[in-house]
Amino acid sequence: MDVIKLYDTQSHQIKEIVPSNSDGTLSIYCCGPTVYNYAHIGNFRTFLLQDVLHRLLIAMGYRVKFARNITDVDDKTIRGAQRENISLQSFTKRWTDIFHRDCEALNILSPDAEPKAASHIAEQIAMIEILIQKKHAYVASDGSVYFRLSSYPDYGKLSGIDVKRLATQNENSMGQTNLADEYDRDSVHDFALWKAYKKEDGDVFWKSPWGKGRPGWHIECSAMSVKYLGETIDIHGGGIDLCFPHHENEMAQTECVTGKPFVRYWFHSQHLQVEGQKMSKSLGNLFTLSDLENKGYDAHVIRYALVNGHYRQILNFTLFGLDAARSALSKLRAKVMNWQKANNFFLNESLLQKNIAYRHFNSAIEALKNDLNVPKCLGEIFSILNNTEGSESLFSELYTLCFILGIEKFVFHWKEDLKMAEIPSDIAELATQRWEAKQSKNFTKSDRLRQLLIEKGWHIVDHRDGYELEKL
Ligand code: AMP
Ligand code: ZN
Repeated sequence: MDVIKLYDTQSHQIKEIVPSNSDGTLSIYCCGPTVYNYAHIGNFRTFLLQDVLHRLLIAMGYRVKFARNITDVDDKTIRGAQRENISLQSFTKRWTDIFHRDCEALNILSPDAEPKAASHIAEQIAMIEILIQKKHAYVASDGSVYFRLSSYPDYGKLSGIDVKRLATQNENSMGQTNLADEYDRDSVHDFALWKAYKKEDGDVFWKSPWGKGRPGWHIECSAMSVKYLGETIDIHGGGIDLCFPHHENEMAQTECVTGKPFVRYWFHSQHLQVEGQKMSKSLGNLFTLSDLENKGYDAHVIRYALVNGHYRQILNFTLFGLDAARSALSKLRAKVMNWQKANNFFLNESLLQKNIAYRHFNSAIEALKNDLNVPKCLGEIFSILNNTEGSESLFSELYTLCFILGIEKFVFHWKEDLKMAEIPSDIAELATQRWEAKQSKNFTKSDRLRQLLIEKGWHIVDHRDGYELEKL
């Protein structure tokens, strides 16, 4: 099996990914969305990069077990449900459904397991009980339970935080502070595993050995990853903001329970910014998938723009970049359609070739295998396409690469999809002008008009005596 290399946050090294399981299965756990609102395109950059990794491993012939959780109980979901005066369950179901719709539109593969935190309370309580028994956790006077940082000397080994040098607030006997799930590196402290019931929680609570309450955020991923993937996971992913404290805390809890290493490779992706700035509602630069779809961009184009940056670098998202993505993707599709027409071969499932030797696109696949370099891979694809004629082997390699990037549905067509759609009059007019320019050998104008039509979503197929228009 081909080797894939990734940067591991904990060791600061690019490492070869080798499955720990003797049957060759690779386990991947990624922290999923908190379902209280639309996921934004920053969230989707992270989920899409994880999807490219997932697809790459599948295409390389690995058996993959991929789990991504749903965070459906925390301050934000509880407040959201209360604001609308509906149950937490119906509130989070609505946002989970919308998240699924967006994932489908973006062609993100479904995980093998998608556990929800609120459906795994017993597993979380069981873990907390073990932590208390082993003296890694203590019950505060109000019935909250805290992880005892000083009981785990390895704390900080993922994010590099040096606990001893920081003024920590450990042994929180009052149980009235330190309930926050998210905090900065300089306010590191014993963190909540279980939060005692407060009246602000309304009807959201579960019974536990420490009284009624609800779990802290970090414990859900420990409990669910162990349940679905076992005590040691191969790859654990998330956006870079999750490295501290969330993943550091996940690791502390899980290793203290199991006594085994929690994760073999940590896969963190850098954030997305919009027009050079942090995305935020107040700056008016926060986009959801629907916001961009409503501006006329196809979800596959949005996908292309979001994955086209190295995962270890910040991606600066711009509308200009989205237009460039549309144009690149349309070019790719037009090329493939021309080949399909010229060679009379059409997509069938056998085009997805797992674990093949790449003859034409070797440099493109190597770029992905070597620390998931998507922009380099795309650059290679375009330069190879410009210098090659279509052939069946090239076609199946390209299909497999498009599958890995998740753009296969946009670029390739089933035969029956290649139908003439109704042509709007402005498009027909542009096509006529292009044909006339071509006939009078004004190739600059003709090329410009062809490109304009591609940007408007139409592809021209020339014949000797005329042309056809196809909807992209
Ligand atoms: P959340 O729903 O807030 O738990 O976030 C879901 C995922 O999106 C996590 O992996 C976050 O690290 C990631 N994330 C949040 N903001 C951004 C951003 N601006 N760019 C990329 N990923 C992000
Ligand atoms: Zn998590």
